[in-house]
Amino acid sequence: MTAAPAIRLTGLTKTFGETRAVDALDLDIAAGEFFSMLGPSGSGKTTVLRLIAGFETPTDGTIELFGEDVTARAAFDRPVNTVFQDYALFPHMTVLENIAYGLRVRGVGRAERLDRAQAALDSVRLGSFGSRKPAQLSGGQRQRVALARATVVQPKALLLDEPLGALDLKLREQMQVELKELQRELGITFIFVTHDQEEALTLSDRIAVFNDGRIAQLGTPAEIYERPTSPFVADFVGTSNLFDGEDAAAVLGRTGAFSLRPEKIRLRADEGVAAATAEVVRSVGTVAEEIYLGTSTRVLVDLDAGYRLVVLEQNAARFAARDRRGDRVTAEWSASDVIDLAAPV
Ligand code: ATP
Repeated sequence: MTAAPAIRLTGLTKTFGETRAVDALDLDIAAGEFFSMLGPSGSGKTTVLRLIAGFETPTDGTIELFGEDVTARAAFDRPVNTVFQDYALFPHMTVLENIAYGLRVRGVGRAERLDRAQAALDSVRLGSFGSRKPAQLSGGQRQRVALARATVVQPKALLLDEPLGALDLKLREQMQVELKELQRELGITFIFVTHDQEEALTLSDRIAVFNDGRIAQLGTPAEIYERPTSPFVADFVGTSNLFDGEDAAAVLGRTGAFSLRPEKIRLRADEGVAAATAEVVRSVGTVAEEIYLGTSTRVLVDLDAGYRLVVLEQNAARFAARDRRGDRVTAEWSASDVIDLAAPV
């Protein structure tokens, strides 16, 4: 017998008045998975998380956690805990008291409480910060305390709602690594809500891309990035050149809807390098814009075929870079890098 999934959602629906925030969702999340829900604002991901936590009651459908139907159970009676973006620490308590609080309300004795709180604080590398007040911590430290407070009660799954959303980029990247390490150490299921596609790609075992209360695509980061199955996912996750109708006919000579990642395209410094073949697509145009990004350069090319192509070039060999605006170039890419968005998967 295979183990029950950590989380099983069946026909889960939540409406607020006329809004179908979550629309007949079926989803299994395995125990130990780092699972991300990614989507634009308003796509329903936070509502799904709140339904799992028990902060919202579904309009329809069921929620099973580790094989048990918890749909009718109160939030405190579910084997999960939540970390929010705004930390929600008690300002008048010390860091250690904040962490021990959840144990106190569960009736754990003082000595054990403090031991476990200290261990949780050590696990987020703030072992010596126990006697400080939240106001005496940086944003990143506060977020780590919030993580320690959520994990000290040993939930079987941790629900994280944009937990790094308030941090600056550098700190965010550092915390991403720490989150991933913490999840490995604890070996518990993490359900992570974000609208940041890079964050979801970096952290997750699997990602559900949400659109309008439904899952537009479910897969590993590589599957989502390399094989988007709709224009929505191709566009929302990473940058894509999207072709349909006239564009597809003019640039690719094909009918249908297609996506091409900017980093798959090479630019050659003259026009008419060679004719296109079955394997290599070539298209001539004029450089409209060049944007230096440090490790890479984004180049916009107006193709003679009437399409503005986005190209991403790595900068390793571009010491003598000069502005190529106005230059005539040939853009080329492998036909196999063109993703057919209508193809069955
Ligand atoms: P964000 O990234 O902005 O948090 P989200 O993908 O998490 O967005 P939800 O917060 O789940 O989206 O919202 C989904 C839809 O449900 C939105 O249209 C939102 O306005 C609506 N909604 C959410 N909560 C409520 C509520 N309490 N009352 C009414 N409408 C709500």
